[in-house]
Amino acid sequence: MQTNPNHLSENIIAAIRSVAGDQPVALHEPKFTGNEARYVNECITTGWVSSVGKFVDRFEQQLAEYTGVKRAIAVVNGTAALQVALQLVGVKRDDEVLLPTLTFIATANAVSYCGAIPHFVDSAIDTLGLDPNKLEAYLGEIAEVRSGSCFNKKTGRRIKAVLPMHAFGHSVDLDRLADVCRTYCLELVEDTAESLGSFYKGKHTGHWGKVSALSFNGNKIITTGGGGAILTNDEALGKFAKHITTTAKVPHQWAFMHDEIGYNYRLPNLNAALGCAQLEQIDSFLVSKRRLAQRYQKAFANVEGVSFFNEPEFSKSNYWLNAILLDPAVAHLRDMVLEQTNTQGIMTRPAWELIHQLKMYASCPRMDDLSVAQSILKHLINIPSSVVLGERLE
Ligand SMILES: *Cc1c(COP(=O)(O)O)cnc(C)c1O
Repeated sequence: MQTNPNHLSENIIAAIRSVAGDQPVALHEPKFTGNEARYVNECITTGWVSSVGKFVDRFEQQLAEYTGVKRAIAVVNGTAALQVALQLVGVKRDDEVLLPTLTFIATANAVSYCGAIPHFVDSAIDTLGLDPNKLEAYLGEIAEVRSGSCFNKKTGRRIKAVLPMHAFGHSVDLDRLADVCRTYCLELVEDTAESLGSFYKGKHTGHWGKVSALSFNGNKIITTGGGGAILTNDEALGKFAKHITTTAKVPHQWAFMHDEIGYNYRLPNLNAALGCAQLEQIDSFLVSKRRLAQRYQKAFANVEGVSFFNEPEFSKSNYWLNAILLDPAVAHLRDMVLEQTNTQGIMTRPAWELIHQLKMYASCPRMDDLSVAQSILKHLINIPSSVVLGERLE
């Protein structure tokens, strides 16, 4: 049977409404029904709203406990966390950093802030994230390891790191990727902005390189308004991360002594207060999100021309943003589906435009074949995924 274009949108809208209800639905809205107001109010009444205060320490401890890392360092946003994470592993001016072309712009921007050059690679269809097998084959062609460093034979530049991203909360194949990084003497830095609460083979994402970076932007699984964190299992690196993100001030009762060009990237206490309250609820958020994903999966099982994206077998995903993929036969109708769902009050979004095609990154090195990323962009639609939608299904 041919899929009728009108039926495609109608069927998708019906499937979403059968799960999310008839009211207008956001893509991802935050939920503040825990201790948020109490903790934020405490900051205001005590006067500790800014760069010092107990909630920053508490939030960092809670994060470390939850993710299982030794140290978490709270910062102003996920992009800043990524930039510092790259610097911590030694990314320097004119180094190349390998990252997927299919990611949020911040991943590439963080590389640029270090003076380094993004080098774009393809994604895998089973994870939507960086494909370690394709990366390995590619490095076999273009890379050369000399005295413990990896070089790009074409550009002559050092390739310092690989920066994968766990798209919409689905983990990439981290063991495989870590192997490839070891073979080619590359640092692995995980962009875990979307994967708080996502586990790879039973362990929280963010453990596979020396450092990783979280985001607590308003649309993420938990939010601090704006915020991010650097995660590491290396105590010394964690200590240094705290130092350079807090202006590199040498502790002293009254003297203003600084021993590096540091950053004022620390997370204000107000935001950390929100984060503490949010993180207290993450387990119940994750239950709701998983329930929502399961319902969507069932609802889309009978929709012709569409499949629901399920977590990879090695990943226990947070299902931050649920995604459907249009079959190739109906992929040309993607924009029509986006148009009609949004018109009807159902907020849907495509994936990000591929970064190698944006003008400021168009001349960066890249794999010739980025066909999987192109295909994902053509076929994927994110559908409403707020915690509250899953809760209503109880
Ligand atoms: C949200 C996000 C970031 C950046 O986080 P901000 O807190 O918004 O700076 C980085 N990478 C990815 C993949 C993201 O989704």
